[in-house]
Amino acid sequence: LRALDGITAVLIDMDGVLYRGNIPIKGAARAVEWLRKQGKKLIFLTNNSANSRSAYARKLKRMGIPVRKSEIVTSGYATALYLKKNYPGAKVYVVGEKGLRQELKEAGLRIVYPHCVEEATHVVVGLDRKLSYAKIAVALRALLQGADFIATNADATFPTEEGLSPGAGATIGALVGCSRRKPRVTVGKPSPTMVKIAMSLAEAEPKETAIIGDRLDTDIAVGRKLGLRTILVLSGISTSQDVKSVSGTGLVPNFVHENLERAVFG
Ligand SMILES: [Mg+2]
Repeated sequence: LRALDGITAVLIDMDGVLYRGNIPIKGAARAVEWLRKQGKKLIFLTNNSANSRSAYARKLKRMGIPVRKSEIVTSGYATALYLKKNYPGAKVYVVGEKGLRQELKEAGLRIVYPHCVEEATHVVVGLDRKLSYAKIAVALRALLQGADFIATNADATFPTEEGLSPGAGATIGALVGCSRRKPRVTVGKPSPTMVKIAMSLAEAEPKETAIIGDRLDTDIAVGRKLGLRTILVLSGISTSQDVKSVSGTGLVPNFVHENLERAVFG
């Protein structure tokens, strides 16, 4: 348990740590169960804003990992909390998927539809697998009228069974390309916004918090920025070769393990 000695809260990235696509990673369920038995506070993270927390809770349950909705933080949920806290009256035009809209609504924010986009105070952008010219055009109009530009996350790609697929970066790129503006805030990792929200849910200080993830450029980068213990697992994107190549930079993790099971049981 060396990697988790003295740690009370564990932030666990989901994709590449608990599963790849719809395939569970061996030993992950057992590791999570053991962490619970040890009394660790657990928060499950994902930069993916396309699905709601409820959908992730169902997905994990199918994989034998029982998780409460309140233990899940998606970049969509974090964006909703960010807006609710800082702009409680926000009227939001969304370029994203159902799960993002659901989280924004649950937080009490108003969603603006295309026919009244001139009312939008914010354009919130995430992964959108039904991105269209029409949606881009509506969002552009809102941005040109001065709406605030918020991105749930900036992932260029995400892994699927068919290989890498375009992530939220594709949606952001389309809007940057026509509006000549950039997102003012990006909520997901490696930005600290989402991880700070996760830490406040766990009521944990940086020195007693660990982040476990499969990407040096997001999970480890944000963990290092916030002074958390950082644990890279090699069951997802980053490889041991990648670890060698970041030597001497701000991306070096405290621990590297083959997978979550090894990180937890040694
Ligand atoms: Mg991941």
